[in-house]
Amino acid sequence: MRFPFALTAKIAKYIVGHKLRGTDKFATVLQLEPLHTCNLTCTGCGRIREYSTSLKDLMSLEDCLGAATECGAPMVSICGGEPLIYPQIEALSSGLLNDQKRVVYLCTNAMFMRRKMRAYLAREFGRTPQTTEPTIAKLIAEGLMNEKEAAEVRKGPKDPSAPVMAPHPFFFWNVHLDGLEYTHDLIVEREGVFKEAILGMRMGKILGYQVCTNTTVYKETDMTEVEGMLDFLADFGVDGHTLSPGYEYDSAKADMIKRLNLRPEDFFLTREGTREKFKDLTGWSERYAILGTPIYHEFLEGKRELECSAWAIPTRNIAGWRGPCYFMAGAGHFPTYDEMLRNVDWSKFGVDKDTGEARDPRCENCMTQCGFEPSGALGLNAKRGDTWKNIRYNFGPRPKPSGKGKEVNAYNGVTAGKGHITGPQAKKNSSPLATSDVIPEPAASIPAAV
Ligand code: SF4
Ligand code: SF4
Repeated sequence: MRFPFALTAKIAKYIVGHKLRGTDKFATVLQLEPLHTCNLTCTGCGRIREYSTSLKDLMSLEDCLGAATECGAPMVSICGGEPLIYPQIEALSSGLLNDQKRVVYLCTNAMFMRRKMRAYLAREFGRTPQTTEPTIAKLIAEGLMNEKEAAEVRKGPKDPSAPVMAPHPFFFWNVHLDGLEYTHDLIVEREGVFKEAILGMRMGKILGYQVCTNTTVYKETDMTEVEGMLDFLADFGVDGHTLSPGYEYDSAKADMIKRLNLRPEDFFLTREGTREKFKDLTGWSERYAILGTPIYHEFLEGKRELECSAWAIPTRNIAGWRGPCYFMAGAGHFPTYDEMLRNVDWSKFGVDKDTGEARDPRCENCMTQCGFEPSGALGLNAKRGDTWKNIRYNFGPRPKPSGKGKEVNAYNGVTAGKGHITGPQAKKNSSPLATSDVIPEPAASIPAAV
């Protein structure tokens, strides 16, 4: 199957239950932001700039778990900031997975992923050293762990009762990857991030985790490169991919103008630009494990219109429930999900699906997953045959790797001597995005546990 049966069945059951009860608006995925601190400063990310980036500004563990219970969404996407910096990330994941039985996507830039997996491995070594030793040997042989790290793992866990980020049928690493090495390191504004992300994903697959990627497509994105990236990832068993159009939401746009002195219109996609970039998506989804519904894919391709249903993928962070959506807090923050549903005037947001007119100028170019994917999944603008399309897609077979991954020149950046930001070639690089060479080090106050 394209996605694990238990997972697909769980979500389908939840949606059908609400439909049968006639619920008007309900949450399908909670976007949980326990913190906004990050160790990177990616171009186009407004999140880390819109909110305070102090490590003191954290949601409590109780608030995080309570938010999931409150909205009832069967899936929780833990994002941020970088969630692996959150001091109680293990307890949060474990509470959502094991106590609340939710599906968890942990969105990460992967810089701390191998460290978290070594902590899991240390716990396993403490329990069953004989069966863990061959795995350690394999990771060393594959260049995913060095002898010093292996020696640390063999000491076992510091606290055997502490939760760890362990593989789970409902747990997914969701790794941010915007292209091959040159492009990705350029966008995240630091060299070596691509390489570390690939090491993290390869290690994850060897240890039995489910691993997905999420890619934002910008105006300059070369879709042939993205295709190559998907072939490359398929070779080591990455389980699924999300592709989303990058559009100029408020805080990202402001950052681009103020910090990088760039024109947002040169970087972000309009609706027309999105349709052009995604015109082959249905064909791609037959060849790659693209997550989402075929209805949303048709929307991105420009074959149909959908209305915005941002209420189905609500965002909860330190300030409250963000209305109307992940991208803008045009309606403010609310203390409860229910208050957000009741107090946001939903008729003022989104794009009129019949006239194509934006109800709010900030929605004009938005075709993002957070706003429109649920409309496809929930059948809000259903056409004859949509249900069957969704069932066939989600319960159908997973596409097999093309075998073309080996031909892809993935390490085409700093590894190939083409460093562009902090490397020796920085000054020679002509790309306008490389004008930012102010790359902060990871926050000094990142807890030792990470
Ligand atoms: S990894 Fe990049 S996109 Fe993600 S929160 Fe950090 S700066 Fe933003
Ligand atoms: S269209 Fe929907 S998801 Fe997009 S910015 Fe507007 S309210 Fe938010």
